[in-house]
Amino acid sequence: MDFKLRVLVYLFIALLFVLQVRFGIFYRPEFRPRTLAEIERSAGDLSVLDKKARRAYSSGGMFEPIEYEKLNGSAWLKSHYEPGQTFDEFAASYGGADEKRNRLYLLPLGEFTSETSILMDKLKLYCSIFFNMPCEIMKPADFKFRSRINSHTGKPQLLTGDIIKAMNKLLPADAYAMLALTMTDLYPVSSWNFVFGQASLTGRVGVYSLARYDPEFFGRKREADYQRILLERSLKVMAHETGHMFYMYHCVFYKCLMNGSNSLVETDMTPMFLCPACLRKLSHAVKFDPVVRYGRMLEFFEANGLGTSAVWLKKRIEYINMPE
Ligand SMILES: [Zn+2]
Ligand SMILES: [Zn+2]
Repeated sequence: MDFKLRVLVYLFIALLFVLQVRFGIFYRPEFRPRTLAEIERSAGDLSVLDKKARRAYSSGGMFEPIEYEKLNGSAWLKSHYEPGQTFDEFAASYGGADEKRNRLYLLPLGEFTSETSILMDKLKLYCSIFFNMPCEIMKPADFKFRSRINSHTGKPQLLTGDIIKAMNKLLPADAYAMLALTMTDLYPVSSWNFVFGQASLTGRVGVYSLARYDPEFFGRKREADYQRILLERSLKVMAHETGHMFYMYHCVFYKCLMNGSNSLVETDMTPMFLCPACLRKLSHAVKFDPVVRYGRMLEFFEANGLGTSAVWLKKRIEYINMPE
């Protein structure tokens, strides 16, 4: 066989192998719940770390393992193939954030009222704390995207593929990743009812809609605490989706911010925080002192009325700082 042809055949076989291992596109085995020993090992070898770091990357009883048998039929893990990714697997393939591309960008798309602009500012601050990287809001983009009116909701929707294409052209040279956020609903192809978001990981751009996080979208009354709920959901989606830009897979060990989600109900049940394994992955990528980062997150939660998360963080910081 011609040398070039042989190389092409090998590359093709390697591609099929990667597609199977990562996405299970040919054969989808049922999810295998991890054993407690596997969960404990998911954050890698902790013996090489100092005492505080060892605590930061161990559960200390503050993270619950995923209870696969208790998940209902519509849960993400019941309908999606997830290979899982330990800290060691992550570290073996990820060299760390790029020195030249060291900024995160948020791009507001479409109509933003003064209320949602405030939300954008909060997302920017949280993004810079969470990823320990400068985060900037770009000028609102004025592109024309294909759109339609959804027949179920009667609300306008934007075509995600058009947005991703436009974002590829807009991407600043120093961008590690760029996330577009919109209050308009999205759809990926005409046959789909809607989509929460879509990303191009190779292009490191993604677009996410916050429309369905507001009860008014479904014609429901906004309760007194709806702003808090909208903020919590938006922080979660921003941090989760940006986490994927750092090549973190969905978490299969603990109840964790990086768990996949099939619905708003599942998103609401997802924790605000990274489990020990995912936290160590992020710290490998962007280098931070977990206690300093938690302290900044705590300030943010206290300033924004997110009491439950603040209480958890205080306990977590106490646990890490505990004397022997
Ligand atoms: Zn995800
Ligand atoms: Zn995790």
